[in-house]
Amino acid sequence: MTFIATEPIGSIPRPAYLQEAMQAFQKNEISATALSELFGQATRETIVQLEATGSPVISDGEQSKPSFATYAVQGSPNLAAGGVVIPFADGHTRQLPKLTAGPFRYQHFAADYLKSARKLTSLPVKQAVIAASAMSLLYPAEGIEGYSQQQFIADLLDQAESDIRQCLTAGAYNVQIDFTEARLALKLDPSKGLLSQFIDLNNQVLDRFTDSERSRIGVHTCPGGDHDSTHSADVPYPELLPLFFKLHAGNFYLEYAGEKDKKTVLESIRENLGTNQKVFLGVTDVLNPRVETPEEVCDLLVQAAEYIPVTQLGSTDDCGFSPFADDVSTAREVAFAKIKARVQGTKLAEAKIK
Ligand SMILES: [Zn+2]
Repeated sequence: MTFIATEPIGSIPRPAYLQEAMQAFQKNEISATALSELFGQATRETIVQLEATGSPVISDGEQSKPSFATYAVQGSPNLAAGGVVIPFADGHTRQLPKLTAGPFRYQHFAADYLKSARKLTSLPVKQAVIAASAMSLLYPAEGIEGYSQQQFIADLLDQAESDIRQCLTAGAYNVQIDFTEARLALKLDPSKGLLSQFIDLNNQVLDRFTDSERSRIGVHTCPGGDHDSTHSADVPYPELLPLFFKLHAGNFYLEYAGEKDKKTVLESIRENLGTNQKVFLGVTDVLNPRVETPEEVCDLLVQAAEYIPVTQLGSTDDCGFSPFADDVSTAREVAFAKIKARVQGTKLAEAKIK
């Protein structure tokens, strides 16, 4: 029987009571303890619902992460507003903070989320971490007196390595590096210089792991889903994939369902996928509220298997359903229904692909 792995990307929309509590906490209306209890409640509820989808691997839904990008530095004393701005196609922006002094240290490691989640389920749990390349954007262009960029990068590599290693040690089924700025880098710098720099930096982290550890480490790319909009969907995959597959990782989680020209994407994957690499194609479009049918998911995978050896093929969602905590553009129930369709459609494809 054919086996096709299927995994989520990570985030599930936070329930309304948690959204409200997070806002109340910002205004000092509720205590950190009260908020933490609600994080726990939302995580428990999310895990129960993820288990009910039939997904063989789950996440904690990132209920207590402030965002996929900023969890590591939340509460850091040496950050100020006014960092890099990320523009989205619909006109809205997200702005990163910037570092004001060294040394650079993560305030939170993703393994803490993983440890809490593993207590709540017997299913394998995957854990997402932020890419070193994203964190590298925190160092300001004007530099920091007494803390060179070189020193910053050395500290960053140590922190990013530790973030991944702690997850592996804590029993993550696998670890996914969120590298959503990959495609954006091509938009900002079509010469590919910035993307090459990002890949080189992330490889410096990946090279600190053994081959067997790297088989449990993956990388996610997408055009950046936020408030149902994207930042780089107009960059064609054939521009990205030749460099993207140069990352020294075992698993690659690609936004795919939302792509218009799927044949070209599959051809590019076939050309660039290494023999020790596995590609998980997004089969549910997180920016479209319509829930896919299992048959549609199955069809995508059957077509993909014409280009990609089935032993190297898996399915996933196009992105997290709510990478930023305050993004309420997707309903929780829609997210769970899409995950269920992914799981059922993947099973159908297993039966169909010989
Ligand atoms: Zn994504």
